[in-house]
Amino acid sequence: GPALLFVKTSQGKEEGRRFYACSACRDRKDCNFFQWEDEKVSETRLAAREEYNRNHQPSFTHRQNVDRYKNFVLLPLSKRRFCQECQQLLLPAEWEKHSDHQFLCDISTAQLKSPSQLLYPLENKKTNAQYLFADRSCQFLLNLLIDLGFRRVLSVGTPRLHEMIQSKASQEEDLSVRSLLLDIDFRYSQFYTEDEFCHYNMFNHHFFGGEAARETCRKFLHEENDERVIMVTDPPFGGLVEALASSFKKLMAMWKETEKEGHVNKEMPMFWIFPYFFESRILDFFPSFSMMDYQVDYDNHALYKHGKTGRRQSPVRIFTNLAPSMIVLPEEEGYRFCSVCQRYVSSGNQHCEICNSCTSKDGRRWKHCVLCKKCVKPSWFHCNNCNCCTLQKHSCEKTDVGCFVCGKAGHKRSACPCLSRT
Ligand code: SAH
Ligand code: ZN
Ligand code: ZN
Ligand code: ZN
Ligand code: ZN
Repeated sequence: GPALLFVKTSQGKEEGRRFYACSACRDRKDCNFFQWEDEKVSETRLAAREEYNRNHQPSFTHRQNVDRYKNFVLLPLSKRRFCQECQQLLLPAEWEKHSDHQFLCDISTAQLKSPSQLLYPLENKKTNAQYLFADRSCQFLLNLLIDLGFRRVLSVGTPRLHEMIQSKASQEEDLSVRSLLLDIDFRYSQFYTEDEFCHYNMFNHHFFGGEAARETCRKFLHEENDERVIMVTDPPFGGLVEALASSFKKLMAMWKETEKEGHVNKEMPMFWIFPYFFESRILDFFPSFSMMDYQVDYDNHALYKHGKTGRRQSPVRIFTNLAPSMIVLPEEEGYRFCSVCQRYVSSGNQHCEICNSCTSKDGRRWKHCVLCKKCVKPSWFHCNNCNCCTLQKHSCEKTDVGCFVCGKAGHKRSACPCLSRT
């Protein structure tokens, strides 16, 4: 889909040179598309690009994959193979071609219903950054959604949540929760129909399936028979918040358009799962959101999963536009309700009488600094040189190096107000 327009700046200069680069890959090694905004592109280069794109299409279309799946499930267990190298379900006629590849045999229906276990996670941090929810966190999310009364979930980059909903729906007929998965990982098209999965880029709101896929999404967002919709997303943490926010606003607009009268002053309910240190960035774009204390755990993330000995702190949180008081966090995991703040907080999060709120962001107990007039991390102390709280080990006044975009002190490039304007 479309590239994003970036700006290259040198320190202190207001104006930078603008260029287009790939929206999805944050590493030039993964996609080297680069074009100055004002650059003239020759016919030959255009043709070469088109040629390149043609040669880099997936080997099957989504439709073909759906047909293949239908044939695959008709096979007896002994003929159901999955090529691990090509990450593809194989039909017997194709075995030959993959004969020197590693493959799995006897693919069961249960395995087909949990593709996130069958496929290996694409962990490349700069592109897919596929970190799968630990079962406990996924269960928690799903139960929470159901308790809140939602019956339809737009799963944006949450394949494991999607598959948990799908299997729940097939087990319990009376409790019909439905999910539509939007994800850039096309491997999932082997397991889901066009009504269950859309190949989608959340950095530029691009539906690879064109108008038909867009329409699928629109239809899904249209609430009928009181089936309320919520969007849940867990984007790669290295992703640009402004690009994500812009796409999510478009999905919200899609929801709003589906029902002209009912939704006038409402926003599509949303859970945006992201690390707590992005709180101010997210609130810049979605002032109606607040951050929940719940720590989201992952299976394949070395840092964010809870270890064998007790629980490691995960920095990943839920941001939502629902009333915080409605988000009930599990008491058996130590969360408690603060009646002053009217929300559930983590066990270590103490209510500060001076700030009049539960101020901890990372789950540890924070301490109030009278000079800074706010609560700070337990490991910080007040430095009289810098006139603020910071780590014990720091070089004083280093912070005024200034932002790379506007040159002003007090914020980094990523938080530059000039940038969000362009
Ligand atoms: N915790 C989630 C997975 C989150 S990992 C779960 O267990 O369900 C991030 C997800 O976003 C991956 O599924 C990845 O394929 C998807 N993704 C990465 N870049 C994307 C993009 N540009 N557009 C859409 N989805 C993307
Ligand atoms: Zn193969
Ligand atoms: Zn409180
Ligand atoms: Zn305080
Ligand atoms: Zn201080």
